[in-house]
Amino acid sequence: MTAPLLCVQALQAGYGEMIVLKEVSLEVYPAEIVALVGSNGAGKTTLLRALSHLLPWQGNVIFDGQSLQDVPTHRLLTRGMVQVPEGRQLFDRMSVEENLLLGTLPDISRPRLQQHLEQCYQLFPVLAERRRQLAGNLSGGEQQMCAVARALMSGPRLVMIDEMSLGLAPVAVDRLLDTLQAIRTQGITVLLVEQDVHAALHVADRAYVLESGHIVRTGSAAALADDPEVQRAYLGL
Ligand code: ATP
Repeated sequence: MTAPLLCVQALQAGYGEMIVLKEVSLEVYPAEIVALVGSNGAGKTTLLRALSHLLPWQGNVIFDGQSLQDVPTHRLLTRGMVQVPEGRQLFDRMSVEENLLLGTLPDISRPRLQQHLEQCYQLFPVLAERRRQLAGNLSGGEQQMCAVARALMSGPRLVMIDEMSLGLAPVAVDRLLDTLQAIRTQGITVLLVEQDVHAALHVADRAYVLESGHIVRTGSAAALADDPEVQRAYLGL
């Protein structure tokens, strides 16, 4: 059986004295799309921030068979973990391509950089058309594409995406969800944090439901979408 690419065991994290995540455990296997869903304030962003070492945490996080306990934040990217932050966090007054270039590893060779750019433009042709435009002039959906593409510029094995669909029109969300499938086809693993449970369960293979810092349910996305409790709490059925 394949080993998980990411294995989170009994993770605890929070802000000062407030513990937000209470013994969260989850696994993400290579080339899976796994969704972490839950309502406002459940702790989803806190989990991604902890995994990216932006918050102190306790527990065990194993990536590609190695503990991340003592790995400094800036080394996570070279290990192959990257996060697309909530709210895109693009540099509005820089061009699309300049934003993409910020996502590369510092020691990347020129041919490799060019290859990553081409791959991003293939995934998101609209970014190729707008490569010289200011990122701040893109639509919300295009900005989210640019944020995902910037993350891909580091050639990651795992992309963690926070609230990809936030504030976007359904048609833009659908396009981004299709792109996640294309990203996975390239062998890249996706951990998607979403408040839009419907969208998340539509694209994911498996999902975890987080409530008040605890994982309360897990299973295949299809099984969770059929779960009456999930339907009542998150799908408005
Ligand atoms: P949302 O979708 O609203 O972002 P979430 O599931 O991502 O929800 P978190 O943002 O992880 O939830 O927040 C979990 C808890 O931690 C909430 O009670 C929130 O108020 C609190 N929290 C988040 N950020 C901070 C912070 N910087 N300082 C203190 N408390 C915080």
